[in-house]
Amino acid sequence: MSKTIPIIKDKITLENKCGFCTASKCCTYITHQIDKPRKKDEFDYLLWQVSHENISLFKDDDGWFLMINTPCSHLLADGGCGIYETRPQICRDHSNDNCEFDVNIEEEFDLYFDTYESLLKYCKKRFKKWGKKQG
Ligand code: SF4
Ligand code: SF4
Repeated sequence: MSKTIPIIKDKITLENKCGFCTASKCCTYITHQIDKPRKKDEFDYLLWQVSHENISLFKDDDGWFLMINTPCSHLLADGGCGIYETRPQICRDHSNDNCEFDVNIEEEFDLYFDTYESLLKYCKKRFKKWGKKQG
C-alpha cells in the first residue's frame, strides 16, 4: 500500500488512511482456502498444521482457511510497498474501507484457532469420541 504521510493528521479518510497505518496488517499475512474439514482425521491433520509457529485456522462466510502470519518481503520499514507500481493484483484489489486498520479480523471470523489447544478443545466438543483411537 502507498504510504504518503498525510499533513492533516486529525482527519482519517479512505484516501489518507494507509498513511496512518504503520503496522500495515494487510501486508503481514496470507491466507489459503482449504476443504471444509469433516472427519476426525482431517481435524487431526489441522491440529498438526496449527501446531506450527505463525499458523492459524479460521472459518468465515467463504469457508475454511489457513492463515500464515508472515510479513511480505516487499513491505518497507515505513509500512510502504517496495514494489508499489508493480504490486500483484490482489494487493490492488484490497480495499481499505473497513479493513484490518478498523477491525480485529480475528474477531470477525465464525471460528478461529491460533493454537493446538484451542483447536483440540473444539475437536473434543465436536467429536464425542475424540479421545478414542483416530480414524
Ligand atoms: S490494513 Fe488497511 S489501512 Fe492498513 S495498509 Fe492495509 S489497507 Fe491500508
Ligand atoms: S506486494 Fe506490497 S502491497 Fe502487496 S502485500 Fe507486499 S508490501 Fe503489501
